[in-house]
Amino acid sequence: MGECWSVGNDNVGETVVVFYLYIGNPGGGMKILLVEDEQRIAGFIKRGLREERYVVDVAGTGEQGLFFLSVNAYDLIILDIMLPDMDGVQLCKDLRRKKITTPVLMLTAKCDISDKISGLDAGADDYLTKPFAFEEFLARIRALLRRATDVKTTTLRIADLELDQVSRKITRAGKPIVLTGKEYSLLEYFMVHANQVITRTMISEHVWAEDFDRFSNVIDVYVNYLRNKIDKGFPRKLIHSIRGTGYVLKEK
Ligand code: CA
Repeated sequence: MGECWSVGNDNVGETVVVFYLYIGNPGGGMKILLVEDEQRIAGFIKRGLREERYVVDVAGTGEQGLFFLSVNAYDLIILDIMLPDMDGVQLCKDLRRKKITTPVLMLTAKCDISDKISGLDAGADDYLTKPFAFEEFLARIRALLRRATDVKTTTLRIADLELDQVSRKITRAGKPIVLTGKEYSLLEYFMVHANQVITRTMISEHVWAEDFDRFSNVIDVYVNYLRNKIDKGFPRKLIHSIRGTGYVLKEK
């Protein structure tokens, strides 16, 4: 029934190739909710986004999506229109009515222009028709996240620390710093929110996935790894602890 995506496995195969050939991509530090009932597509998108360092939760129904949205904070929602229990357009309208302003990228197999219009009228920020090239999908996600965070450049900077979201290169005083995926996501989150107090809850909600154990000390452990890499040996420290609350990334 007009399921463009399934005009065969070929489309999916091709997209996989596009994705693996795509080099030099920005990272995460951003948490995404994917509402998609088709397991194969959901699994494929989730894997691709995780490779790009995004934290991804997947909801297989509209109801589960609404539940995740009520308990977690997301930076972006990717919403399939044809869901088993409700219409994605309706779900988007409900979100906007509840004043949830998280950017929504609608995904659908429908190729009809009227569906595109109804999706955007329902409050979606962008719209993509399946099948799509993963590269374009990622570019649209980056654009939506930039718009939402008000970050218009791909280079984040504080004092002499720089993070390039496209090449993922990090330097402090011109010297390259190598981070693991999680450390990168954490630093990117800190840099996007520089000079703001970041609580452990905020970190757990944006840098770790739904299955993360919030009562563990994993966050503090990772912040220490990060400190060892970006602050150790430099007279001016950038990561500061706020007792009993969390952290702040600032010049002094
Ligand atoms: Ca569907």
